Amino acid sequence: MFRRYLSLRTPHQECTSILDMSTKGLSGAFLLIDVDNTICLRKTDEVDEAIISFLLQLRRDGRVKEICLLSNVVSRSQRRVDRVARIARKLQCNYVCAFWPWIKPRPEPYREALTKIGAWPEVTVMIGDQLLTDILGANKLGMRTVLVRPLGKDHFITRPRRIWERQVTRLRRIFNVTSPSS
Ligand SMILES: [Mg+2]
Repeated sequence: MFRRYLSLRTPHQECTSILDMSTKGLSGAFLLIDVDNTICLRKTDEVDEAIISFLLQLRRDGRVKEICLLSNVVSRSQRRVDRVARIARKLQCNYVCAFWPWIKPRPEPYREALTKIGAWPEVTVMIGDQLLTDILGANKLGMRTVLVRPLGKDHFITRPRRIWERQVTRLRRIFNVTSPSS
């Protein structure tokens, strides 16, 4: 029970940035990508040119079939939705904005994203900067998961979660827990 709890909060891969993720084994995969602090700083719509070309290249050479951004927008704000849409346009990909209460780690927004790009969990990789939302929800659905280091400062709601994230990470290392089915 305890090991399962930790395992669901364990990513399959951890890296400093999305640019460092291992693309080995990607062959026609689908990507779900968190927005804030994963590819973009909060409140901005600037995406590093290197990240844009990395993702476009993955799709061009067929390692990735389709990409969908998946962002917890939480409140129904058109301004926030427009921002995610602008970022998606830069990456020429789809996007799903999750609104309270159907936000990550709940399964609904992941399922909506999968449907949007015609994907299914076994061939999908979720990339995000938060263990207790991005990674947890995707692991529960049986996706591969990649945890990246946050690009910048967290929203104040995220800060207490980071303390719990650190405890979970410490415990899973002590008990040598691995990510689901790996
Ligand atoms: Mg994030």
